[in-house]
Amino acid sequence: MLSLEEAVGRSLLAVPLLGTETVPLADTAGRFAAVDANANVALPGFDNSAMDGYAVRSRDLHGATTKSPVALSCIGVIPAGTESAGTVDEGTCMRIFTGSPIPAGADTVIMQEDCRADPGDERTVRCNDSVRPWENVRLKGEDIREGDTVVAAGTRLTAGTIGLLAATGHGSLEVGLQPKVGLVATGSELIEPPDDLQPGEIYESNRTMLASLVARANGLPTRYPIVPDSLEATVDALERAFAENDAVVTSGGVSVGDHDHVRPAIEQLGGALDFWQVAVKPGKPFVLGQAGGKPLFGLPGNPVSALVTFLLLVRPALLKMQGATEWGLAKRPGLLAEALANRGDRRHFVRVTHDADGLVRSAGGQRSHMLRSLAKANGFVDLPPDSRLAKGDPVEVLLIDD
Ligand code: AMP
Ligand code: MG
Repeated sequence: MLSLEEAVGRSLLAVPLLGTETVPLADTAGRFAAVDANANVALPGFDNSAMDGYAVRSRDLHGATTKSPVALSCIGVIPAGTESAGTVDEGTCMRIFTGSPIPAGADTVIMQEDCRADPGDERTVRCNDSVRPWENVRLKGEDIREGDTVVAAGTRLTAGTIGLLAATGHGSLEVGLQPKVGLVATGSELIEPPDDLQPGEIYESNRTMLASLVARANGLPTRYPIVPDSLEATVDALERAFAENDAVVTSGGVSVGDHDHVRPAIEQLGGALDFWQVAVKPGKPFVLGQAGGKPLFGLPGNPVSALVTFLLLVRPALLKMQGATEWGLAKRPGLLAEALANRGDRRHFVRVTHDADGLVRSAGGQRSHMLRSLAKANGFVDLPPDSRLAKGDPVEVLLIDD
């Protein structure tokens, strides 16, 4: 049996890095930067006001209070988007607004709430307070210097990074191509919902569940028609899925049952295939194959096993293909609200709920065909073989849908 770490390492090694494309910045959310992006301008780009008020010389307002205000002569207005050619000399000020450039001569801004213009004399401004030098001023480059790397290659683009890129002059970005992922479900018992079921048949659910996981990993999923348990149908389905995608994910048909055709189908297509027993529960059987340089991930048919093996072994590979440099599941610390035990000899990824108070409890029945607890769970606790954790023990929860 392979350890999980070994299996993840092999899965990562088996996938190619896809190419890149340049897309409008607005379309980059969730994608991965293919290059370091540098600031084309400093932020702020120039010394500017953090307040609506008056640009002044701090020396002029020394000792100013409500009782003994200092009167300054207002010599101009600097609306946002303009720059004043004038200079603030002793005894003068300029009307200024948030974001307007600080004019020559001024070294600070007094906010308008601390000033009063004389009725009938807009040019005289009475200042009721003193201000320190550079108070209410945003200094050029204090946030970002021109040329700073603002997003490193491999970073996932978020609203914040997109905002920073736009503010530093980027209209588009080179990002990793999204892997096209073909989803193939095998099993003669499987029926497309909501068609009628005959005795012994069940609704197919893995392709749909996996499509949502692929999309969360920023891949582009395509669901292919359900494949009955026959070698010919499996060969046809895999051939088409390989031709139209960068990777293929199958579910079912990878154990050693008589009706498991994924392995011979791959061999018939001239590909190679590695059959693993990964030491995790749920999800032991897992297939890694390739045909024509494209990877195939063969997941177990049990829905819970399919989800767990996808998150642990396929998701990292899909992220790597598009240029990601990190692929671990997000983790959140919590405290057990009840004991959890694993009497088996494989690591058990226990479906749990992690609530807003950080309390962690079992999401319900843990057998690999049980979907109720899968739907309720928002994470897993990785429970070592033959172990028991007590109520109150600290745990790390691996988040499912983050
Ligand atoms: P298998 O891995 O093909 O032996 O399937 C293991 C179990 O998972 C069986 O109970 C199957 O009926 C069930 N199963 C397999 N594929 C799917 C699927 N795509 N959707 C729902 N259940 C499935
Ligand atoms: Mg089957």
